[in-house]
Amino acid sequence: MAEEKLDFQAEVTKLLHIVANSLYSEKEVFLRELISNASDACDRLRYLALTQPNLIADDPEFRIRIEVDEKARTLSVIDNGIGMDRDELIANLGTIARSGTTRFLEEIPEDESKSDGVNLIGHFGVGFYAAFMVADEVTVDSCKAGEEQSWSWVSDGLGSFTVAEDSRDGRGTTVTLKLKKGEDEFLDESRLRSVVKTYSDHIALPILFGGAEDATLNTASALWTRPKKDITDEQYTEFYHHVGHVFDDPWLTLHAKAEGKIEYTFLLFVPTTRPLDLFDPQRKGRLKLYVKRVFITDDCDELVPSYLRFLRGIVDCEDLSLNISREMLQNNPLLMKIRKALIKRVLKELGKKAEKSPDEYATFWENFGAVLKEGVYEDADQRDTLLELARFRSTQSADDWVSLKTYIGRMKEGQDEIYYISGEDAESLRRSPQLEGFVSKGLEVLLMTDPVDEFWIGAISVFEEKSFASVTRGSIDLGKFDTVTSKDQAEKSEPAKEEGVSGLIALLKLNLDERVKDVRVSDRLTDSPVCLVADEGDVDMHLARLLKQHQQVDQVSARILEINPRHELIKVLAEALSKEGAADALADAAELLLEQALILEGEPLPDPAGFSRRLTGVMAKGLAT
Ligand code: ADP
Ligand code: MG
Repeated sequence: MAEEKLDFQAEVTKLLHIVANSLYSEKEVFLRELISNASDACDRLRYLALTQPNLIADDPEFRIRIEVDEKARTLSVIDNGIGMDRDELIANLGTIARSGTTRFLEEIPEDESKSDGVNLIGHFGVGFYAAFMVADEVTVDSCKAGEEQSWSWVSDGLGSFTVAEDSRDGRGTTVTLKLKKGEDEFLDESRLRSVVKTYSDHIALPILFGGAEDATLNTASALWTRPKKDITDEQYTEFYHHVGHVFDDPWLTLHAKAEGKIEYTFLLFVPTTRPLDLFDPQRKGRLKLYVKRVFITDDCDELVPSYLRFLRGIVDCEDLSLNISREMLQNNPLLMKIRKALIKRVLKELGKKAEKSPDEYATFWENFGAVLKEGVYEDADQRDTLLELARFRSTQSADDWVSLKTYIGRMKEGQDEIYYISGEDAESLRRSPQLEGFVSKGLEVLLMTDPVDEFWIGAISVFEEKSFASVTRGSIDLGKFDTVTSKDQAEKSEPAKEEGVSGLIALLKLNLDERVKDVRVSDRLTDSPVCLVADEGDVDMHLARLLKQHQQVDQVSARILEINPRHELIKVLAEALSKEGAADALADAAELLLEQALILEGEPLPDPAGFSRRLTGVMAKGLAT
């Protein structure tokens, strides 16, 4: 077949543009990326060869070789791994498969390739394309294991590439970089040696320089099999980058060997920053499973539950059979036991961190709390442990995170429920009118801002015998609590009485009709004239909004409008009832009260034009003296 010219997917072109203009100082990381890919390719073939040994019969020793040609100014990374056929070359090197990379690109605006976004590269890692930081042209010659025909992929990284038939000797991949002017350091053996030592020492395969066995550049044993005391922090970090395809530092590293009935080693990392694919709908775990040092799969849902999907790293099991198929992993009793043990261990370590370094734990919680909370309703066994690990914003302080234990510790006398309010963000929640009564009584209210909160709260009823009560649903008796604020406030939060406003309530019911479920005086308002709440048995307001947003329901059930009889406006309206000719103005006022309450909830108004007309009328009257 003749040479074929193809265009990169638009996202790749954008990525390459960023890479080419990158001011990134540690260009040498391109080598780490190429070696990481070569190592993955060997791992994958080793797994296939368990059932198809003929694939590697002619060349059973996996290795990676680095070669330089000083005259031609080229550097090659050569592996005898699984290789790629023509279609795979096009798909793997011409398009972006990782959702994390795509998200990364979305976050960098088009024209920002010369400024800030570029520095992100160092923290992100662009995989294979990093080669274009140092090369004008990259050639990938590859032969897929078990096939005869090899293929050659060539690109200058500017928007297109070519593929043509090739005559590579044996399976595997050779990536050849024609170095840019000024990048001659990557022809120098000692320089390359130190780069490999820094970034790729943890690779379990020998990395050779030239052809010679005695020129092995790395330690060439799986990092997790080495004694902990021999592993430096840097080595752990580099392994984390390789295994997790992420480029921050690990926030927590757990490395241990279990030697009970089941023997296995785990090396797990909690990232410092949120991986970009954390909220992908698949909610896939990212741990790699090895059996006796042989990579089996990185797609194993049995190792850890989804609510621990932020973990990166490996589990290497001694007791599984090497030729276990991926199907046999499902519901495997041995894996179930490992899973249980890993969950326990990880949650225990998180608990220790929470206790010892609350500030660091707060950062962890901000990143991964929303994910961990999924476990509260998915994993009944760990429910209490997870609730102990959970942290919340509250009305008590602006920046601190509180645990449920702390909350319960400061509950008021007579308080037997954990009060909470849920919504989009803590700042707007703090301004909710429904909180006024609670604040004036010194009652702490938790602010729940993750969508998942609605679901776990719905699933559990109590924590340490205290039930959860939403301040925007049902009636809560605040009369039994003393007011802690000023005398003026004390008056405002006296139990509200209906007398004097019963006429107004009747009028509101009449005018608002089916749009409200009920109109009643409020216990929870001190400063605002009105608010909406959900009825006792109904879905809470924020959840109803979420469900509607996601088209789970078409119609939200009507809410209760609560009014504050101590408020000046409500008093004026109540008095106006007895005035002649006030009917029209009162009808408008009824609408405006409901509209106001809706706005406070951040909900769209059913009739914005009508609202505007009413408001204009009121303003015109109010200012015309
Ligand atoms: P990642 O390694 O994160 O998947 P890369 O950009 O580094 O992303 O590589 C893209 C893909 O190209 C890999 O997922 C793999 O399928 C393929 N690939 C790259 N290098 C090799 C290689 N040496 N052997 C086989 N496949 C490779
Ligand atoms: Mg890679």
